[in-house]
Amino acid sequence: MMRVGVLAVQGAFAEHIAVLERLGVGAFEIRKLSDLDGSIDGLILPGGESTVMKKLLSDLELFLPLKKLIDEGLPVLGTCAGMILLAREIDGGEAPCFGTMDITVRRNAYGRQLGSFACTERFDGKEIPMRFIRAPYVTRVGGSAEILSEHDGKIVAARQGRQLAAAFHPELDDDTTVFYMFLKNVSDYIDSKE
Ligand code: GLN
Repeated sequence: MMRVGVLAVQGAFAEHIAVLERLGVGAFEIRKLSDLDGSIDGLILPGGESTVMKKLLSDLELFLPLKKLIDEGLPVLGTCAGMILLAREIDGGEAPCFGTMDITVRRNAYGRQLGSFACTERFDGKEIPMRFIRAPYVTRVGGSAEILSEHDGKIVAARQGRQLAAAFHPELDDDTTVFYMFLKNVSDYIDSKE
């Protein structure tokens, strides 16, 4: 069975675990270093507050081991704050977290009032529901990173290798398109290890 770890130090991790369980995927919470002792086939970085997660990642000594796993090709899905954690660059000069994806993001990019809204938008050739909560968007995509979705002329989803990032919250809607794309990366990764 696939084993997907969900960073569970802060934010919307419970919703991600519920989706994985619904899809029959083995999910576990990552709260401390020893949670990484078993096998791991994929990683989800949920929404929440990226500055808080960044601090907890280093306080809990999870930062370096997780960065190493991502650098070595572990499939990752970052949603909202999770996308910010993956970005190489944050508009305004704030220090990046993992910085493993060649994208620049703008935090709270829709302003305080307009920050939370729902829409339907094309993602990988399909219309899917999207919910944004004080969301970032992507202002630059570089290297081998590619755009997966745009809303109102702003990039809201991207991928690079086995890294997948969305500014919205797929775990809050019933549509599983984003999760299936991530889980395809997970099964490819498992095949590549065998
Ligand atoms: N505003 C948050 C941040 O900048 C992200 C919001 C979210 O994850 N829902 O970290």
